Amino acid sequence: TIVMGIETSCDETGVGFVENGKLLGDALSSSMAEHVRFGGVVPEIAARAHVSALVPTVRQALNNADLSLADVGAVAVTAGPGLATALHVGVAAAKAYALALDVPLYAVHHLAGHAAADTLEHGPLPPRCVVLIVSGGHTSLLLVEDLVRIPIVHLSDTLDDAAGEAFDKVARVLGLPYPGGPSIDRAARSGDPAAVAFPRPLTGPGDDALGFSFSGLKTAVARYVERGPAAGVSVEDIAASFQESVADVLTLKALRACRAMEVDTLVIVGGVAANSRIRALAQQRCDEAGVELRVPPMRLCTDNGAMIAAIGDLLVQAGAAPSPERFPATPTIPLTDAQLY
Ligand code: ATP
Ligand code: MG
Ligand code: FE
Repeated sequence: TIVMGIETSCDETGVGFVENGKLLGDALSSSMAEHVRFGGVVPEIAARAHVSALVPTVRQALNNADLSLADVGAVAVTAGPGLATALHVGVAAAKAYALALDVPLYAVHHLAGHAAADTLEHGPLPPRCVVLIVSGGHTSLLLVEDLVRIPIVHLSDTLDDAAGEAFDKVARVLGLPYPGGPSIDRAARSGDPAAVAFPRPLTGPGDDALGFSFSGLKTAVARYVERGPAAGVSVEDIAASFQESVADVLTLKALRACRAMEVDTLVIVGGVAANSRIRALAQQRCDEAGVELRVPPMRLCTDNGAMIAAIGDLLVQAGAAPSPERFPATPTIPLTDAQLY
């Protein structure tokens, strides 16, 4: 069965085609540039951009996969979490395609999609693994036994900001262009990660062993910049020092979770998993700990349609029941089951 995946939860219109764990082709259209002057995604603008881009992106993805619509055997769509206005566009489109093609429709969880992205590159997940989801809206550690079945055990979350949110806000403080993650990654390459000793939140004795917090770190960077950096400390040095703190904390806790759960595979997914320092430090620490690290290629880390097709394909392969016709878009929904309805 060829599964068409549709993603419209934020500013990316993504469409992908997956069959039996294999990516056949995909396409992406982003409204990122339209949000730059607002410093963040504007929901109404994102929604209007999805309406414009959706059909052309489906066409482009079909082209790239060398398929026609008649080849599609199932449709999967991000039903949540995400921006309500943006989700509605994808959900409505997916329902129309599924009805017109007379194929089953699967409402899927955006974060299960992020995790499933890795299977397109590295094959099926092992029977038990720890998944670190680091994105614009989430920072969570999960114990995953089967992506398409309960229980996906939540080990921890962030108490405040998500890691991606911290990257975006710190970039703004440093005067680096939106989106902040890639800007900081780039700037940090020519900076000294030891230039400023920023805090490592929640790593003290007595702190939540697996929990995250990034709002204090973000404030520490803002204070440092306000006070005026020490002589010889550049924006690049501050970016590198901030990034080092995030990479240190994320990888420390992820490996702690692997040890606690006696799991020997760590999967890091979501937009922040595209970060070069996080990827490098995770690899180094996993090698030291004898843990296998799986991280999707960069283009599958940030939002895309292929990852939604990938989780749809896993549902089809598991023989899951399609979602009911009336399912709504759900802006906030925890990842307790990969299939929402
Ligand atoms: P969610 O998946 O939680 O709903 P989202 O879909 O908005 O949120 P993603 O597209 O998965 O998030 O990731 C976007 C985030 O990833 C942004 O905060 C962006 O700054 C960050 N990001 C992208 N590339 C990098 C990078 N190289 N380094 C650090 N952060 C990055
Ligand atoms: Mg995005
Ligand atoms: Fe995302």
